[in-house]
Amino acid sequence: MIMINLTVRDKDKLSISSKQNNPWDYLSNNGSYTKNKIKTHIKERTLLRARRQTLTCSYCQLAITNARNDAFDIDHILPISVSLFKCKSFSFKNLAVSCSRCNRTIKSDDYSFYIGKSKRDSNKSANYSIIHPFYDNIKCHLKVREIYDNVNNINLVIYKIVNNSPKGHTTYDYFKLQDLVKDSLISSLGIRKISYENVYDQLSNL
Ligand SMILES: [Zn+2]
Repeated sequence: MIMINLTVRDKDKLSISSKQNNPWDYLSNNGSYTKNKIKTHIKERTLLRARRQTLTCSYCQLAITNARNDAFDIDHILPISVSLFKCKSFSFKNLAVSCSRCNRTIKSDDYSFYIGKSKRDSNKSANYSIIHPFYDNIKCHLKVREIYDNVNNINLVIYKIVNNSPKGHTTYDYFKLQDLVKDSLISSLGIRKISYENVYDQLSNL
């Protein structure tokens, strides 16, 4: 990846704008060149961080570069379409790599999972009913197992909620993760012609 280089002036603008209530508006008023440069910089930084791990969706935890879905999004966890959260536009702790299913189809501009009273509460895990990609340790709440069947070119998916975690349950329900399990089983059933219970038992024992 070729990383964009910010000049000292760009960095100053980034720093000043990130303190504004509406950072994008502030940057727009300073010319579209700087705005686009900073936008690219933020995307690159977020991706670079994600690539230190494998590129997985921060919500459903599935690998993004699999047969299911090649697209990925950089999602604002608290949507910046909401004026209260516009100030979070550049906050790296508010940017998560996500599959397009979780971001666009499910989450979109919803923030019903946020139970904080103000934007100041947004850096505390307890103010999110779902697992937060940065303020929570995802493995303490929800585990996913993906088994790639390279003969039939399909992925089998199963989730395990760790220690009955409330955040694990809410994330599972909010992102409709049961559908991903079902989808993977249905494609498996069609190809392997084995019973649902059989596959489920096999997966549960992993
Ligand atoms: Zn996802």
